[in-house]
Amino acid sequence: MGNPLIDGDVANLLYMVASVLFIMGIKGLTHPRTAVRGNLLGSCGMLIAVLATILKETSLDLPMIGAGVAIGALIGAVTALRVQMTSMPQLVAIFNGFGGIASALVAASAFYLAIQKESVSLQESIATVASAFIGALTFTGSLVAFVKLLELKIFWKVKSAFWGQKYFNLLLFIGCLWACFHVVDNPADPMGYWLLCLGAALLGFTLVSPIGGADMPVVIALLNSYSGLAATATGFVFSNNVLIVAGSLVGASGVILTTIMCKAMNRSLTNVIFGTMGPSADGPSADDVYAGKVKESSADEVAMLFDGAQRVVIVPGYGMAVAQAQHVVRDLATELEERDILVEFAVHPVAGRMPGHMNVLLAEADIDYDKLIEMDLINPTFETVDVALVIGANDVVNPVARTDPSSPIAGMPILDVDKARTVVVVKRSLSPGFAGIPNPLFAADNTYMLFGDAKKAMIELVGVLKKY
Ligand code: NDP
Repeated sequence: MGNPLIDGDVANLLYMVASVLFIMGIKGLTHPRTAVRGNLLGSCGMLIAVLATILKETSLDLPMIGAGVAIGALIGAVTALRVQMTSMPQLVAIFNGFGGIASALVAASAFYLAIQKESVSLQESIATVASAFIGALTFTGSLVAFVKLLELKIFWKVKSAFWGQKYFNLLLFIGCLWACFHVVDNPADPMGYWLLCLGAALLGFTLVSPIGGADMPVVIALLNSYSGLAATATGFVFSNNVLIVAGSLVGASGVILTTIMCKAMNRSLTNVIFGTMGPSADGPSADDVYAGKVKESSADEVAMLFDGAQRVVIVPGYGMAVAQAQHVVRDLATELEERDILVEFAVHPVAGRMPGHMNVLLAEADIDYDKLIEMDLINPTFETVDVALVIGANDVVNPVARTDPSSPIAGMPILDVDKARTVVVVKRSLSPGFAGIPNPLFAADNTYMLFGDAKKAMIELVGVLKKY
């Protein structure tokens, strides 16, 4: 054991620099223009934190750490380069899960060492049980969210198959609390620790499994926050300041995001935390909603609708992301603007599959940020919109959210495109969106369906407009 290369005070100073960089990074992420710089600042902060930790320790297995960093960096880089924007939520979900379990395991190893030395402090034991409880719960909850987002439908069935799940969750929660007290009281008994992990893992599964459809984004944000809290708890096990700060930042920003999303979807945070389902969906079938009422249109007809239009609102959704149609949508907007038409983009907070999904795509296509209008601002003005062009969006424009209290999306604020003079919906078929329910907008008197892949349909539409 040699001397550390830096002492505790220098390490703490570097941790403070890293913490400031994390905060500046988060601030940068609040706007698309500064997001890339924000990411870079956060990454630099993490690099400084890791280096400071390595330099202040004397007994680290550096080759092992190097191997871990190399393997982790390789997996991270390859995944980040290859992942589709539409699969980002799955990636976030699985990363949350790994973060949670990593925190629980690291805390466990420190705890075991302390037990061997027979010097477990109260802070260590409380922090360890907190890390185990939150980390294990986050791990299985995130795995369920990951599988659900992959749309492997096996997990949706748990929803109806499990009677009395809420009471089971409550019992499990009480059992976990008991295990926490037991471990704090008898730190030398490892069995209690592993029982706690098992109980928390089961609770993560049973809490997330009944949550479905439109509530999933809130769950992801919440699990993100939990993974931060688990890291904070682990920070207290080691008394490591930067881990406490970084974990708290993730925990707090996750809670803020969860609250914003709950508001955007009119869900109560307690219902999401305790895994209570939204209203159940025994609504009308697709046949009831659509039969004989859907009007199919063509690119030529839609181009004619723009004749005489003064205001067009484009509503992007998940389908635009799948089709990667954002660039051609920008071409369409330019084409319309050249005809002196006011073009705006109405962005719903949960359009797509992750918070800010549409903003990122539209920014990628160089669409001016000022043209993106938030839901609350644009909704009162839809009556004056000549054409609302819905591109691959479905749930976020489904009027049943306003009209049917038993629908799974009941109460979720939606973009009121149905109030526009004319609505054009671009999608491939009458298939439902993420919430799995029919959309009466497609059968409304003022709606025309332009069936096809969003990118192909937009290319055709721009081609027709250019000919005029
Ligand atoms: P939806 O999932 O409701 O609908 C998307 C529509 O896009 C589908 O109906 C599909 O119809 C169509 N589509 C798919 N591929 C294409 C394509 N290549 N070209 C044209 N259309 C296509 O999307 P919304 O954006 O309206 O709503 C988002 C939903 O996802 C909400 O329920 C939200 O709660 C949920 N969610 C949101 C998250 C977030 O953070 N934003 C995270 C997780 C879930 P068709 O197959 O007929 O083409």
